[in-house]
Amino acid sequence: MEQRIDRIKNQLHSKSYKLTPQREATVRVLLENEEDHLSAEDVYLLVKEKAPEIGLATVYRTLELLNELEIVDKINFGDGVSRYDLRKEGAAHFHHHLVCIECGTVDEIQDDLLGEVEKVVEKDWNFKIKDHRLTFHGVCHRCQNAGEESEAEKKPKKRNQVKVR
Ligand SMILES: [Zn+2]
Ligand SMILES: [Zn+2]
Ligand SMILES: [Zn+2]
Repeated sequence: MEQRIDRIKNQLHSKSYKLTPQREATVRVLLENEEDHLSAEDVYLLVKEKAPEIGLATVYRTLELLNELEIVDKINFGDGVSRYDLRKEGAAHFHHHLVCIECGTVDEIQDDLLGEVEKVVEKDWNFKIKDHRLTFHGVCHRCQNAGEESEAEKKPKKRNQVKVR
């Protein structure tokens, strides 16, 4: 965690930004909740626990800055809410998401898997791919097995859920 914060600090410094205590608190919340897909408001509520004086506008500006510096990615799962997702270090492209239409859980696929598709797009459309967003909608393995699991096990973590229409 401290090493990643150091690296993020260096990324900020290289663009002449400082890792102020408010920015650091925001980065820590993102690192601590790396599995989740938090909205600006979710991040704000968690940062407030560490830094009660912080305002939503400051958190929002920090998230936008981190997005600009490609430290976080912004994603929308179709519920109209922008969510902030830490970019995996060293990943050339954004990871993929599996959104369950029954329980709303979001799982991640870190492998790009799109090598062949990207080749076709680059060749046939003469398009230089920089990044992509890929969200699969379907029924997760937990919901498929819901009958065999106990109630407690099939309840996903609330914060990782999105409302899907
Ligand atoms: Zn993600
Ligand atoms: Zn890719
Ligand atoms: Zn599910």
